[in-house]
Amino acid sequence: MEIDDITKRYIYSDTELDRAEGEVIEALKRHSQEPIPDPDRWLDEEPSRNILLTSIDVILNWARRSSLWPAICFPACCAFELIAVQASRFDISRFGMEILRASPRQADLMITAGTLTWKMAPNVRRIYEQMAEPKWVIAMGACGISGGIFRSSYNVVPGYNRIIPVDVYVPGCPPRPEALLHGIRMLHYKISKGRTDIVLPPPLAGRKKLGK
Ligand code: SF4
Repeated sequence: MEIDDITKRYIYSDTELDRAEGEVIEALKRHSQEPIPDPDRWLDEEPSRNILLTSIDVILNWARRSSLWPAICFPACCAFELIAVQASRFDISRFGMEILRASPRQADLMITAGTLTWKMAPNVRRIYEQMAEPKWVIAMGACGISGGIFRSSYNVVPGYNRIIPVDVYVPGCPPRPEALLHGIRMLHYKISKGRTDIVLPPPLAGRKKLGK
């Protein structure tokens, strides 16, 4: 026994089932005599809506700020706020940042979520040096900025900017996720104002021909 999709009546025999299926197929055929128009045909019909003029800086900066990939580097308690930013409520995947990279070679952003000791400092610096260029650093929390409440301790680095260059500082102990999001937006703004010194090759016409 089957239920007819259209009439919602019960079908008990194979013959009736075949007929019901045939009606559905015939109805589809009747309504499918012409190809469905391409929804993107305006791309060919209206070139003015399909051309964007801009500078290389704008495009590169847009791409860079829209796909920041953070390296995993959370030595202490600020890490939980960073993890909260990563999770669904705050959700940094909105900025193309959801992938925390375990390999520094695949990362271009370091968010320094925690107290740094001098013992750990060479390793954090090595992670930074192995990150891909161009790269940025957000100093998160009082410890990341200045050593925080542990600043006077003999074994704590009084700020990540002693070992690596910092682009944005996010104060707090710990900063709330909203504060870190604000810092990320500030970094986006900073990246969008950056200038790229690209050396373009000379025009082909000006080149010496091979063999001459
Ligand atoms: S700033 Fe506060 S919350 Fe963050 S690592 Fe230092 S002590 Fe912990």
